[in-house]
Amino acid sequence: MQEDAPPSKREMHWPTVLWYIYLHALGLWGLWLLIFEAKWLTVIFAAVITLTATLGITLGAHRLWAHSSYTASWPLRLFLMLAHTLAGVGNIYDWVLAHRIHHKFYKTNIDPYNHDKGFLYSHVFSNVMTSNPEMEKHVRDIDMRDVDLDGFVYLQRRFYWIIMPIFGLLLPINAPVEYWGESVMNSIFILGFLRFALTVNVSWLINSANLIWGLKPGQKYPPDENSIFLVRKSYWPHYHYMLPWDYKSGEFGTYDRGCSTTILVIWETLGIASGLKTATSEDIRNALARAAIGGVKMEDCLRDVLKSAEEEALKKQLAFKH
Ligand SMILES: [Zn+2]
Repeated sequence: MQEDAPPSKREMHWPTVLWYIYLHALGLWGLWLLIFEAKWLTVIFAAVITLTATLGITLGAHRLWAHSSYTASWPLRLFLMLAHTLAGVGNIYDWVLAHRIHHKFYKTNIDPYNHDKGFLYSHVFSNVMTSNPEMEKHVRDIDMRDVDLDGFVYLQRRFYWIIMPIFGLLLPINAPVEYWGESVMNSIFILGFLRFALTVNVSWLINSANLIWGLKPGQKYPPDENSIFLVRKSYWPHYHYMLPWDYKSGEFGTYDRGCSTTILVIWETLGIASGLKTATSEDIRNALARAAIGGVKMEDCLRDVLKSAEEEALKKQLAFKH
């Protein structure tokens, strides 16, 4: 976290606002068609494509590229790059840059998704506004060298407007029409508008999830008891802002469970993902004790936790190879 900057001078970018209004309205019509008109195969195909795209965001852009919480083999990185392209949320490089700014300048005016301004700002408005000129000045403070060196991220960024329309849009829309005779209209509205409306919200949620699943400081239970049937609030989303490199941190309020984490563990077992970093309770306890009793700065204590997590991950990686 850094010092605060002058109030932001962000303005609504009206073409983007209109695009998202249309996307959501047409996506709703797609939902209607999905429930009442589409063939079963189209429903299954739409679910598979949407879940694959979600993995591209959660396990790809977020946990692999933004936070380096594990290492992926090249076929897995290629898969995650293509999965991310399916989501239609812009290129990985820009996503990672914005997310790293969000973490580094958390809850300041430089933070593009400033949680202090509420859920609507963090989830919706921040994504349809021009960027803050103050934030632009701090872009060079973000270390992007690791992402710069990734050939698949480079390829996706360079050819995004060729790869995305063909692989991410036309092929998924064409498949149901071509292979099981779905109507063109159904395919466009379900695999085009509805799918993109869903994946865009998944991508936005990663930056605003804390405001849905995170308890407020000092709270033990959600103030509205009924919400526990829909949302399991906890401090885990806050934990992600302290130790963002922990692979067990789920994007939507979970820790050490949830779909993405399970898939990541399966990939590790298959040998295509390795070096999964996590913190032990003991490390955290020691870090907190050193900060509270020893007067050591919290950032230094957390850096030591990362160091021991990296050593542990390396040990596991070497053991796997032997
Ligand atoms: Zn994050």
